[in-house]
Amino acid sequence: MLTKGAWKMPLITGHEFAGHITELGDGVEGWEQGELVGVAPLLPCNKCSQCLTGNFSRCRDYDYFGSRRDGAYAEYVAVPVQNLIKTAQHADPRAIAMTDPASIALHAIWKGGGITAGQTGGVVGCGPIGLFVIQWMRMMGASEVIAVDVSEDKLELAREAGASICVLATDFDQLQDKADLVVEAVGFEASINNAVTLAAPGGHVVFIGIPVPDVTLANKTFQYLLRQEISLHGSWNSFGSPFPGPQWTTTIEKFGTGELRWEFLISHDLDLSELPEIFRRFAAKDLHFSKVLFRP
Ligand SMILES: [Zn+2]
Repeated sequence: MLTKGAWKMPLITGHEFAGHITELGDGVEGWEQGELVGVAPLLPCNKCSQCLTGNFSRCRDYDYFGSRRDGAYAEYVAVPVQNLIKTAQHADPRAIAMTDPASIALHAIWKGGGITAGQTGGVVGCGPIGLFVIQWMRMMGASEVIAVDVSEDKLELAREAGASICVLATDFDQLQDKADLVVEAVGFEASINNAVTLAAPGGHVVFIGIPVPDVTLANKTFQYLLRQEISLHGSWNSFGSPFPGPQWTTTIEKFGTGELRWEFLISHDLDLSELPEIFRRFAAKDLHFSKVLFRP
């Protein structure tokens, strides 16, 4: 059976992180001890056809912190210099640690052709990435952003992110054919069908949620995408050229100016030693959470 999770075990997970440089390798220039840095989790092969055309998210032979090699639930991580990103030194490390989900959100919007002033955006799934999608759509000028989720708590956060219409998935039927660009950030069959029918005629739907079992599009959904000429797009990770890409540098810039807000996403800010207990509670579904941060 297909499952989500790390590529191999045992492994130290954790791929969304920032840090301060404690030691530099021989010959590394342009970086200082003590400097706050962002870290891109992907280690592209730099040799395959997709890397050579700057499409690093599509690398055919990549390594990855926290999934294919040990990640950041640790006090120290050894990082190739290619993966470091310059940040303003006054930036909050907690914001910089959220560059990955914010960049995934921006990459998805770009994959769908973007959104412009006066248009309507849609987001199905209001976890951290969905909340960043809402903010980016607003910053790009969307006059309405429709947010759909199964949880009232998540819809409350969506409102805070700038969504103008927040709807429980159970009330979704009132909401079809409204959005010029929809981002699906859940990966369940029902949310995938909802995302397609939320698109306005001629609209675009971008999928970033990763499904576990097979997904079926209902006949009604399929007829709608045919007859209303809806375009569907896959989006994977967050990388562009030059590596790690403008998705990353734009995110860090907008955290710096304060236009991209991040603090309201944090539901838990914990010491690394609390990690095992929190993961037990995740597994027991005993916890409402949005973004959970650990400080080594
Ligand atoms: Zn490659």
